[in-house]
Amino acid sequence: MQPSESVRSGNARTEGIQEKLDRIEKTCRLRTVGGKVASYIPELANVDPKLFSLSATTVGGETFSSGDSSVLFSMQSISKVAALAFALETFGPERVFRKVGTEPCSEPFNSIMKLEMSSNTPLNPFINSGAIMIASLIAEALGEKAIGAVLAFTSLLAGRAPGNGLTVNERIYESETSTADRNRSLAYFMRSTGALPCGVEESLALYFRMCSIEANTKDLSFIGATLANGGMSLLSLETVYAVLGLMSTCGLYSESGQFAIQVGLPAKSGVCGGILCVAPAQMGIAVFSPPLDERGNSVAGFAALTALSREMKLRGL
Ligand code: GLU
Repeated sequence: MQPSESVRSGNARTEGIQEKLDRIEKTCRLRTVGGKVASYIPELANVDPKLFSLSATTVGGETFSSGDSSVLFSMQSISKVAALAFALETFGPERVFRKVGTEPCSEPFNSIMKLEMSSNTPLNPFINSGAIMIASLIAEALGEKAIGAVLAFTSLLAGRAPGNGLTVNERIYESETSTADRNRSLAYFMRSTGALPCGVEESLALYFRMCSIEANTKDLSFIGATLANGGMSLLSLETVYAVLGLMSTCGLYSESGQFAIQVGLPAKSGVCGGILCVAPAQMGIAVFSPPLDERGNSVAGFAALTALSREMKLRGL
């Protein structure tokens, strides 16, 4: 990653960052009270609830980490960021936003009710119906090559070296496939209205594989830095604006408003316990701690990002 102007001219905000991450790790690692590890996908219930990692990658490409930052976990809904970026780059915004909306949803991420009430168009690409629609668009266009193309694209965003790309955790994929009644219902509903571009099973297979891509917080903070840096040569600015805009308004399920108040930065969470966060023109940040609050967001992750945003004045204030 080439350093951006702010780094070349010496951005004081990167100074002392390792100490800040270490301090926040110490204070937030055990702040999981009331949180529960997701268990509706059986494999996710096997994750150690005590894991915690926090990484930040500056727009200059330097990564700082604290905690269990080499531990891989399935991206779950965080993969929807890369899938949306891929779809926007491949099909263009007009085609994508004809199939999914751009407005927040106050219902849970797997709500069926909103889908029926919103003229069969998923409200946004980050709720499950919207992400299944995006997967269906990609699966229709690329067929069997779809998952390879998404993996290669996500690996580039994450700065992975050639030959060391991200991979799918097949155990998690199988576990999710066999317990996916709700996601199947969403897909069948969209198929019944003629909205789904390709078959239910092809759409879901790609969607579940994307959710099962494994990454660590260093990878995710690098994806955040790519977005923070305007997409580098991988994404158009139009794609970056759309992705960051939707992360700001819809990134933390029905807790997106509260997150905007506490942290004030675009972010996307997943039921894995990860949160990918972007401080535009400054850095990408990723946190991982599996216990979730009742809205589906990492309890300690939310606390850590609140602390980091304030300590580093990442929203400029
Ligand atoms: N694979 C998960 C599901 O479809 C993703 C949910 C999430 O992380 O929000 O249920």
